[in-house]
Amino acid sequence: MIIGSHVNYGSKGLLGSVEQALSYGANTFMFYTGAPQNTQRREIDMSLVDEAHKLMSTNGIDINNVICHAPYIINLANKNKPDAWTFSINFLKQELKRCETLGIKYVVLHPGSAVTHTKEEALENICDALNEVIGADTKVMILLETMAGKGTECGRDIEEIKYILDNVIYKDKIGVCLDTCHLNDSGVSIDSFDDYLNNFDELIGLDKVKCIHINDSLNPLGAHKDRHANIGYGTIGFDNLINVIYNDKLKDVPKILETPYIGDYPPYKFEIESIKNKKFDENLANRVDEYYKNR
Ligand code: FE
Ligand code: FE
Ligand code: ZN
Repeated sequence: MIIGSHVNYGSKGLLGSVEQALSYGANTFMFYTGAPQNTQRREIDMSLVDEAHKLMSTNGIDINNVICHAPYIINLANKNKPDAWTFSINFLKQELKRCETLGIKYVVLHPGSAVTHTKEEALENICDALNEVIGADTKVMILLETMAGKGTECGRDIEEIKYILDNVIYKDKIGVCLDTCHLNDSGVSIDSFDDYLNNFDELIGLDKVKCIHINDSLNPLGAHKDRHANIGYGTIGFDNLINVIYNDKLKDVPKILETPYIGDYPPYKFEIESIKNKKFDENLANRVDEYYKNR
């Protein structure tokens, strides 16, 4: 099982991320190259990157399973403000370069929000932008995330994701990241996850799935909301999430937790433990609190 969570990047960059992932008992992780909400990015310190790579290899983290997430404010779907659209394209290009420098293979991207465009125009805009970003010598793969369909979000069903994949020129440089909370909120029942996978396999091909975000959801099926819950503490439920995580067809795909902090503390060490034991942790909040408040 390849499992981890999102982690901070912080002042030590990738090295800090690796240290944090190891403290959670994870064998992979996902990071943002800065704050997820903005696009200010620090210069990369290569000596710290080397140290990060060493720490990964001595602790059994395969860098090929490590995921970067692009900031939320990139919106490739909206051309109404041409400057913002061009900015998104340029930022994403730089993000791919940064990942190449860090040795990271995958960047997860929210496809974008249509705002006042029709869905058709928005999908077209996304394809245009991706075809500017991705070139013949691009070395990092962009993973389109399946979205909850909040507001005018694109990528809320297999057809929208497929449309983008079909219209990107360099098809071997684009893949998909499934998110269980987003799937639930978009109307896909995780009770019958295998049916979804079969459908996905028929329309797109399961080989395109390179990452899965494992989150419970605070909202009912089809709510189009997108609020993550801790594993087993939402409407999807522990057993359904275990079925996703241990699904044979997704065995080699990295699983990343993006569940909420409990108070000021990250729950990941304990969520990963309960996933490994396949046993729901009724006392998650108390255990997290006990552990971190005494450090
Ligand atoms: Fe995301
Ligand atoms: Fe996600
Ligand atoms: Zn989400």
